[in-house]
Parts: sequence; C-alpha cells; structure tokens
Amino acid sequence: MTEPSPTRPTAAVIGSGFGGLALAIRLQSAGFQTTVFEGRDKPGGRAYVWHDQGFTFDAGPTVVTDPACLEELFALSGRKVSDYVELMSVAPFYRLCWEDGDVFDYVNDQALLDAQIARKNPADVEGYKRFLNFSEQVFQEGYVKLGHVPFLDFRSMIAAAPQLVKLEAWRSVYAKVSGFVQDEHLRQALSFHTLLVGGSPFAASSIYALIHALERRGGVWFPRGGTHALVRAMVRLFEDLGGQIRLNAPVQAIETEGKTVRGVASAAGFEAFDTVASNADIVHTYDKLLKGHRRGRSEGARLKRARFSPSLFVVHFGLKALHPDIRHHTICFGERYKGLIDEIYGKPSLARDFSLYLHAPCASDPSMAPEGCSSYYALSPVPHLGTAPIDWAVEGPKYRDRILGYLEERYIPNLRRDLVTSRIFTPADFQGELNAWQGSAFSLEPVLTQSAWFRTHNRDDVIGNLYFVGAGTHPGAGIPGVVGSAKATAGLMIEDFAGALA
Ligand SMILES: Cc1cc2nc3c(=O)[nH]c(=O)nc-3n(C[C@H](O)[C@H](O)[C@H](O)COP(=O)(O)OP(=O)(O)OC[C@H]3O[C@@H](n4cnc5c(N)ncnc54)[C@H](O)[C@@H]3O)c2cc1C
Repeated sequence: MTEPSPTRPTAAVIGSGFGGLALAIRLQSAGFQTTVFEGRDKPGGRAYVWHDQGFTFDAGPTVVTDPACLEELFALSGRKVSDYVELMSVAPFYRLCWEDGDVFDYVNDQALLDAQIARKNPADVEGYKRFLNFSEQVFQEGYVKLGHVPFLDFRSMIAAAPQLVKLEAWRSVYAKVSGFVQDEHLRQALSFHTLLVGGSPFAASSIYALIHALERRGGVWFPRGGTHALVRAMVRLFEDLGGQIRLNAPVQAIETEGKTVRGVASAAGFEAFDTVASNADIVHTYDKLLKGHRRGRSEGARLKRARFSPSLFVVHFGLKALHPDIRHHTICFGERYKGLIDEIYGKPSLARDFSLYLHAPCASDPSMAPEGCSSYYALSPVPHLGTAPIDWAVEGPKYRDRILGYLEERYIPNLRRDLVTSRIFTPADFQGELNAWQGSAFSLEPVLTQSAWFRTHNRDDVIGNLYFVGAGTHPGAGIPGVVGSAKATAGLMIEDFAGALA
C-alpha cells in the first residue's frame, strides 16, 4: 500500500473512451485528483462524433445496454443519469433481415418473439426458452459475478473454472445456440451478437451468449442527441466533480523509475502523477508509451503475437429524405454467414460479399438530422490490417460505393439521388486516429484463451502503480464491458491508495 500523502493522490488517465471516462469518474468520486489526457479534439474514443451540415454522425457504439452500469457511476456522487442525459428505450431491439426476404423483429416481448419463432420452426419455441435460460445462467456467472473482478493471478481463473466447465465455456456461441434451436436464421439471430464485441460466433466462448440475457433484462437504449450526448454527460459529471480533461493532448511517454510510474510526458512536457491508468490501446501503451522500460518492450512484443479482433469499415451518410419504415437498428445479413465470417477473421483480402449493420438514429431521435432529412451509418466487419494489408485509401471509396449501391437496391430506395453528405472510417483510421494495433476495432479477440486472466491485467504485473482499463482488459469490449473494467480497475487503485485517500 502507498504511504499517506499530505494532499490528495493524483491520477492520470490516458484516453477518454467509455472505459477511461468511467474510471476517471470513479477515481475522482473516490478522492483522487484526476486528469484525463485525450489525444483527439473530442472525448469518447470509439464513441467520437461528427457534425456535418446539420447531420449528427455517431462514430461507434449505438446500442446502449445495461443502463444500470452507467447509473452506478452517477450514483457514486448522489446523481442520476437523467440529471445529465435522457436515455430512450429502443423497440424493436433490432430488425434482422435476410436476402431471401425473411425478417425477424428481435423484441423484448415474449409472445411476439414466440409467434415469430413458431412461424420459422414450432419446435424452436421450446428451444429458445432453454437458450434464454442458459443465457441467464452465463449472465449471472460471467457478468454479475465476474464482470468487474480483476483477474490478477491464475488462482482467480482456477476459482472460476468449475462454472466455466459447467457452462461448457470451451464451446462456441454458435455451437451452443445450435444445440437449442434448429432454424438456421434463428441460429444466426441468437449468435451474431459476439460480432458486436469483436468475436466470431464460431470461436467466441459460449459465455458471450450472456449478451442476450443482458439485452432482455436491461433493454436497448439510445441517448437523446446520440451516443456522444452520453459521452458529454460523463465528461460533465467528471468536471462537476472537479476532474480535468485535456483534449488534443496525446501522451508521448509514460515515465518510470524502476518499477514505479512517475508521470506522463506530452507536448506540454513532463507531469508527475502518483498513478497512471491507460485507456489507450494495449499494444500502443506497452510498445510505444513504455518503450523506455524493459517491461514495455517485452509485453508489447508478446501482445503483438496475440489474436486481435477484426476491424470495421463504416460509411456515414445523410439523406434529404425520410425513411420511417427503417428501424433504428437493422442487421442486413448477406448471402453467407459462416463462410463470410471465416473470411473476415482469416482471409488476406476483402470478401466478395458482406453483412451490414445499418444504424438509423432518426427512428428514435429526429434531431439527428435537419428537418425532412435522415442520418445513417452502415458498418461492415472487415479483416484487420494484420490479416489483410489493404490499401484503404484506394479500396475505401470503392467499398463505400458497393455498400451504398447494395443498400439502395434492397433497403433505401433512391439513396444516391438523395445523398447530401457521406464519410468513411476505415481500418487505417482505427490505426491512425485511435492508435489501434492493426486497426482492430475491439482490441484482443474475445476467445476463451484471451479472456479473464489471459487478457491484459487491470494492474500491471511489474510496474505497481500502472493500471489499464478498456476493451483490451477484462471483461472486454462493448460499453458494459469497458465500464465493468473501470469498476475492476478503480477497485484496485482505491485499495492500493487507501492510505493516501484516508
Ligand atoms: C463502429 C463501432 C460500433 C460499436 N457499436 C457498439 C455498440 O453498439 N454497443 C456497444 O456496447 N459497443 C459497441 N462498440 C464497441 C465499443 O464502442 C468499444 O468497445 C468501447 O467504446 C471502447 O472503449 P474503451 O474504453 O476501450 O476506449 P476507446 O474508445 O478505444 O478509447 C481510447 C481512447 O484513447 C485515446 N488515446 C489513444 N492513444 C492515446 C495517447 N497516446 N494519448 C492520449 N490518448 C490516447 C484515443 O484517442 C481514444 O479516445 C462499437 C465499436 C465500434 C468501433
């Protein structure tokens, strides 16, 4: 434990993603004097935002689940989320569409779900019930009990082993789902969620089936004004608590002395801190920011050999037309499921086909576009740059045109006629703008051998006052995941600095 200091202990958080902000709020609430260093001009990390001709384009997360994990952050200082931002419930959660014309509305209404499942395959109504029950069990074990526990030593992994064995955690989500339901489209509907946190349904541990229960229990939400309104709410809460956030302030190095962090170096020079937590990419943190320390070089080299989740290609576009028939969240399944996913995770080039997630925020909040207009993004999972070293400056515009053409043909008539503006975000941008290793969109791939103790630890094993938070740590990507990681990391930091905080 650190010696008591005459003043409040100081903490630097590198990066203002959801994980970094959640940690900063927890630290500031607990008595640390906390400074967030963000490299870009706006906070939010993957949840960045662009404003263009009256259109609002959220860059990343759009499906907000488990609002309780956010509520907990505000409650630390006796506040409520609703004091800062309005969360609106979204229904259906998702509309799922296949190329043969099949449509499935994933809703939070058992009777409506059962009726749709029965139309596909009557036997699957019972199978779905058993799947939901399984999903509830993994939710309790994997999320409620272990979601915010720091796995610092292998003993903690051994302790969790009996539950992992009982839940057959070594099986993939798709394999597990297939044991419950027979209809192929239903199998896809119940397994695609892993893609939202970077995992292949054919490789991610069946533990990730918990996302289904998470959504059924807590609902799907959207902040009025867009996801970035939630980011701004968290920044405001942090500042109201006395924390400082510095934008356009990339950290260049984490300075150490022996096994202790002394502070951070940025364009403003060196600043001393009692402790530092990195929300930046894990390879970037070890390999670049800590390159002056043996630990940084060795851990950076080790992590470069790990499996990283794929990247994403995102095209944002604004239309001078309304399409009220398009739901807020649509999954547009392409012609192949497993074949396509295998290529995204392993083929050194772009697949000939794609599946898309279409975001249409005006369905919930018309203020996301000027009057009579609507804003969208379409997201296509693509290999990261380590798997497929594509020149996105060349391929990006062509890929955008393919996606817009496909959407026009099947979902949004006259899309190109009504197009007011568009922008793309490619794997090269994930790498260049966010320092993401290989342009991965979700950090380490969520497979069992890279989960819990096998992920980057919330406190470094060697440098005692260096901590990590965000998608590369336990439990992993997604807003609830990184907010859970902040709880694990804050718990350690508060315990380690208990003397100084007293
Ligand atoms: C397109 C997309 C859609 C998604 N959709 C959903 C969804 O619907 N629901 C959901 O729950 N999740 C979704 N996710 C996943 C989710 O957005 C992420 O897992 C989560 O936001 C990552 O948060 P993080 O805390 O790891 O930080 P990040 O968002 O990765 O932020 C890290 C921050 O560190 C900063 N940084 C890096 N290096 C430095 C440096 N040297 N100095 C200072 N700052 C630095 C970066 O600029 C960045 O701001 C989506 C992700 C993407 C990309």
